[in-house]
Amino acid sequence: MIRNIVSDQVHVLGAGLSGLAAATILARSGKEVHVHEIRKDSGARFDGDFQGIENWTSEVDFFDELEGWGFDSSEFKSDAFGIIDLIHPDDVITHPETDGVAFRVVERGTAGHTIDQAFKRMALESGVIIHYGVRRPPEECDIVAAGPKESSAVAYGEIFETSHRNIVAFQLNDKLAPGAYSYLIVIDGVGLICTCLWRKQRNSGRYLDETIAWYEQHYELNRKPKKRVGGKGDFGLPTKYMHEGRFYVGEAGGLQDFMWGFGMRYAITSGVLSAKAILGEFEYEKEVRKRLLPLVRASAINRFLMNRVGDRGFKMVANQWMRDQKRKGDGLSFMRWLYKPGLVRRALWPIVKIGMLRRKVLTDGRTVHRMPFRRSLKRDSWEPSVEAVKIREQWKSVRKGGGTLSFKESDA
Ligand SMILES: Cc1cc2nc3c(=O)[nH]c(=O)nc-3n(C[C@H](O)[C@H](O)[C@H](O)COP(=O)(O)OP(=O)(O)OC[C@H]3O[C@@H](n4cnc5c(N)ncnc54)[C@H](O)[C@@H]3O)c2cc1C
Repeated sequence: MIRNIVSDQVHVLGAGLSGLAAATILARSGKEVHVHEIRKDSGARFDGDFQGIENWTSEVDFFDELEGWGFDSSEFKSDAFGIIDLIHPDDVITHPETDGVAFRVVERGTAGHTIDQAFKRMALESGVIIHYGVRRPPEECDIVAAGPKESSAVAYGEIFETSHRNIVAFQLNDKLAPGAYSYLIVIDGVGLICTCLWRKQRNSGRYLDETIAWYEQHYELNRKPKKRVGGKGDFGLPTKYMHEGRFYVGEAGGLQDFMWGFGMRYAITSGVLSAKAILGEFEYEKEVRKRLLPLVRASAINRFLMNRVGDRGFKMVANQWMRDQKRKGDGLSFMRWLYKPGLVRRALWPIVKIGMLRRKVLTDGRTVHRMPFRRSLKRDSWEPSVEAVKIREQWKSVRKGGGTLSFKESDA
């Protein structure tokens, strides 16, 4: 069914960041907007985990962009960082830093201070009608903002109480986080240790145990585990962003960073673009291709290169980052450079498409070039350390005492 938005009513599928951003702008322009959300609340997909909003894919500070679109960034708690601990695969720790804001940490979930609840409040105040706990076919909606469907990668984390000062540490390590990275975030006495798996594993929990063991040995955490969280990421590039009159935004539209998994900025931006397109400011398809697709493609090329290397390659990346910082006096310029299309990256694109992505026709008729969840490698099999075994036992007893687990291997 091809929908035409002829009336003043707009239907949005999904009350995540992309759907709520679109809905708010449309409602403020006088549309009657209905958002249909399968879960009981916005943010319920996440359970109090910290996520970073990056500030390197554009020269414009993302919070200035938010304000420009009419969103109040003081509605949610955020902590800005200009420095991180960069942990190389050989455990050397260096410090990329910038004078400005490299990224901000926000909390996801259903608590009042989360970004999800802030966007929900802004939507409701603008007159958006949100229907929670309902299932509605995408064909009956104008904007599809329903997040990931399949898994290309997963992330597992543990949330704990800690006495450590606020910090973000980012570790490139192919053993603890196959094909990717792990991180430690501490904000005001609450910590998160998370590992991302870009190769599919059996018994994935052991990667988190081993990662926690690593951080315990290198940071004075005084950790009191509370709960375990996680989620999947779906990475695919559709051949078009509008299909049968519907706008595909956020992760549902493949608008996400393939290299590190950053998706919030793309989600909000694409939601805003879809709303402005409905209001007649420009064509969505053209605008996404101009503003977002080059970044997503650059990230996919970077992911392809990362998939080809192990710790030796990661070490080269970390060294290159630090050399670049020394030369230019700014740690953010390396991250910005990673997203510049450039001649080499452009030349690599056809190889990436054939080598990493698989063509798939989805049930709604769209064609997507998906990144499948890669198989595990021989080097992914190892015996857990004594410390990791203790951490597993500790988690079992926390779980018996009521510690929640919001994402299991079977959810991937
Ligand atoms: C563990 C983890 C860590 C991450 N860390 C970061 C990070 O540090 N920085 C970053 O920028 N990004 C991060 N991401 C990615 C980021 O969270 C997503 O890219 C972003 O939330 C996508 O927003 P969205 O609006 O497209 O989708 P979602 O936030 O998934 O919202 C979609 C909504 O649609 C609903 N829905 C789904 N199907 C239906 C249906 N049939 N009917 C009705 N409703 C439906 C869902 O319940 C959900 O509420 C992380 C993701 C995970 C899983």
